[in-house]
Amino acid sequence: MNELPKVYDPSAVEEPLYRFWEENGFFHAEPDETKKPFTIVIPPPNVTGQLHMGHAFDETLQDILIRFKRMQGYSALWMPGTDHAGIATQIKVEESLRVNEKLTRYDLGREKFLERVWDWKNQYGSRIISQLKKLGSSCDWERERFTMDEGCSKAVREVFVNLYEKGLIYKGSRIINWCPHCTTALSDAEVEYENQAGKLWYIKYDIKGSDEYVVVATTRPETFMGDTGVAVNPDDERYQHLIGKTCILPIIGREIPIFADSYVDPAFGTGCVKTTPCHDPNDFEMGLRHNLEQILVFNGDATVNENGGKYCGMDRYECRKAVLADLEAEGRLLKIEDHGHNVGTCYRCGTTVEPMTSAQWFVKMAPLAKPAMDVVHNGRVKFVPDRFSKTYLRWMENVHDWCISRQLWWGHRIPAFYCADCGEMTVSKEDVTVCPKCGGTHIHQEEDVLDTWFSSALWPFSTLGWPEKTRELDYFYPTSVLVTGYDIIFFWVARMIFSGLEHMGQEPFKTVYIHGLVRDAQGRKMSKSLGNGIDPLEVIEQYGADALRFTLVTGNSPGNDMRFSTEKVESSRNFANKIWNASRFIQMNLTISHAELPEKLALEDKWIVSKYNGLVKAVTENIDKYELGLAVQKLYDFIWDNFCDWYIEIVKPRLQDKTDKEANENTQRVLCYVLSGTMQLLHPFMPFITETIWQALPHEGKSVMVSKWPEYREELCFKAEEEQVERMMETIRAIRNRRAEMNVPPSKKANVLLFTPHRSAYEAGALFFGKLSYASEVEFLDAAPANAESMVSIVTPGAQVYMPLGELIDFEKERARLEKEKAKVESDIAFVMKKLDNPSFVGKAPEKVVAAEQEKAAKYRELLEKIEESLNALK
Ligand SMILES: [Zn+2]
Ligand SMILES: [Zn+2]
Repeated sequence: MNELPKVYDPSAVEEPLYRFWEENGFFHAEPDETKKPFTIVIPPPNVTGQLHMGHAFDETLQDILIRFKRMQGYSALWMPGTDHAGIATQIKVEESLRVNEKLTRYDLGREKFLERVWDWKNQYGSRIISQLKKLGSSCDWERERFTMDEGCSKAVREVFVNLYEKGLIYKGSRIINWCPHCTTALSDAEVEYENQAGKLWYIKYDIKGSDEYVVVATTRPETFMGDTGVAVNPDDERYQHLIGKTCILPIIGREIPIFADSYVDPAFGTGCVKTTPCHDPNDFEMGLRHNLEQILVFNGDATVNENGGKYCGMDRYECRKAVLADLEAEGRLLKIEDHGHNVGTCYRCGTTVEPMTSAQWFVKMAPLAKPAMDVVHNGRVKFVPDRFSKTYLRWMENVHDWCISRQLWWGHRIPAFYCADCGEMTVSKEDVTVCPKCGGTHIHQEEDVLDTWFSSALWPFSTLGWPEKTRELDYFYPTSVLVTGYDIIFFWVARMIFSGLEHMGQEPFKTVYIHGLVRDAQGRKMSKSLGNGIDPLEVIEQYGADALRFTLVTGNSPGNDMRFSTEKVESSRNFANKIWNASRFIQMNLTISHAELPEKLALEDKWIVSKYNGLVKAVTENIDKYELGLAVQKLYDFIWDNFCDWYIEIVKPRLQDKTDKEANENTQRVLCYVLSGTMQLLHPFMPFITETIWQALPHEGKSVMVSKWPEYREELCFKAEEEQVERMMETIRAIRNRRAEMNVPPSKKANVLLFTPHRSAYEAGALFFGKLSYASEVEFLDAAPANAESMVSIVTPGAQVYMPLGELIDFEKERARLEKEKAKVESDIAFVMKKLDNPSFVGKAPEKVVAAEQEKAAKYRELLEKIEESLNALK
């Protein structure tokens, strides 16, 4: 047992303790048939990322669960790793190239560029891992994975080829969301919608071979060069006669058909819709239904391409201006209206997304979504809180095919191989060098890589060794719980569910524990642009990892956002100090080396033991139900109030009395039993301080983190004694309050007379009762005292208390003090009344001011009355 230093210094203990745990292999989990498995896979942070408060929150929750289950005797595996984060990482490296060497990725070429990204990964990839360690995360680092390591890459190919062969992956020209800034396709989930003010332009298109014309209303005149039709509603009377006719595209002069489609809303605009299949998802669908031509008018960077005629080369916004000016000049712009509409923007860079048709790879979602909804419907996968299952189901019901190709270089390159000689495409797990059709060797692999989420969707089984049949996969899969924020339910959770079902035939996890975001003290999202982010590493440095962790769980309930402030961290730090000081006090008084409970428990011992026993039950249940905020609140209250403020004070006389050896040792044993057990219960939340204290108390085993989780023991439940002690505490509190009201210092003792039906209990606790109620002596009465009028009397539910007034105060001094106070209040009253008796003040001053003065006068009078009462009592 090491002696605890005077002050708790987290920075001195955290690193050595973490090393001690890691070197002893406590984080490592193996398949073990004698134990039940408990598995969590970490949401892999971006390999080049930095720990932010969101991670700290997410990891803390996972670490609490894993440490809890490990102590409960499970083979608890927390599988760690990082994500290659395609676009995020590529952009970082491109940016550094641009700034430092004035080069683009194209200057280097694919191969050289990828070498640079790997260098970057090797240089910065371990940063986030070492930051996770600072937090105390008990991941099994021996099993650390990376989404682009050999095994995960193999899993990706296996899945791609399997899905392709089942017809669930296809390559197609589809309309997709395109970010002109990131120059890549985006999945639906990567597009954020915002309402923007815009305009509705009314443009006149002539009908071929007649004087008639139609007017189309559009928010996007810059795409008109790609129009290949004009649509009207089949039931719209106004346009019946035009269906089947042709109109002429202004400026360009191309002829386009007028057709009917019930998608068109006759009430919107003029009821005539210009149809641009390549640049609008709804137009695209209409185009397919009516076999319209597809004309793409933009390049990847959203400049106009050669199909745009005279506008070729212009940026899309420049083009809009030019088009409108030309239409205006030709007299074709009939009307302009203000019009707010939903615009899609890129979730990464905020650029307005351009819908475009292009050749992309897709996962066919309908057949995969069905079973993924079933497992949530039938409860095989549960969301905590349950409301998120609705969010999930709603999204899955409306899911579109998943665009998985990205026009990036950093990522899993799509395993499709094209033969330059015969045009054959081969999708294969192995690299193809010879065309299986013609034997040609001019083979070129698909340029695109896969969406980052394609590999993270496989994370729960790829990290356990799939597609190999490993012991780990067999034992740890399906995993137990997934902990993540509500913001990635679609990106990640949904995709893991359908992938697990499809490739493993089993859901990837039983429970999805959803948490909210960490916001600043005012409730705002932490962001770079607001500059309101708090760096978790700085918090750890200043206050310790335990204080940060404790702050993040306090007040937490599943699914809800939390507010973070330095004040909260300070109060967590104060809590750590409180535990430290109490533990140190106990340790300094220890002479024993074993901490089992004594046979004979005093009344107050039974109280704390029973309270503790109840705490064990409550905390265990709360954690099992993911109510971590409730668990931690109960621990806090028990430690601060029951244990430190009461029990330690209660037993101090016994602890310091060395004459009765048995009583003294029993006290030590109860203190150690309860404190040691409480440190176990608190360990998942505050791993470092609890380990330090646990080690400093009598203990068995190497570490609190592999000690056995405390269990509720029926024989330690003492309800009657709990009530008795709490009645006495209530009496003590009442006595102290009354003494405080009377300004009696604790040093002034007084006789305490008790009239109570619970005499035996008060007698059993007389030693501490007398001390804590500042009694010179405690006496029991059989009836109310005869001279009650010269006593201070207090009524509490357990007992009636009487204290001789003369013992509490010095009559002469008190009288003098009260007389002085009386004089002061009287002069205050006179001062206020002078004002209120002055008609010019009352007449001229605002009503509010007069009322305030009247209120003052009333308060003083009340005070005066009380002083006079007290004076009378002294006579
Ligand atoms: Zn973008
Ligand atoms: Zn070929």
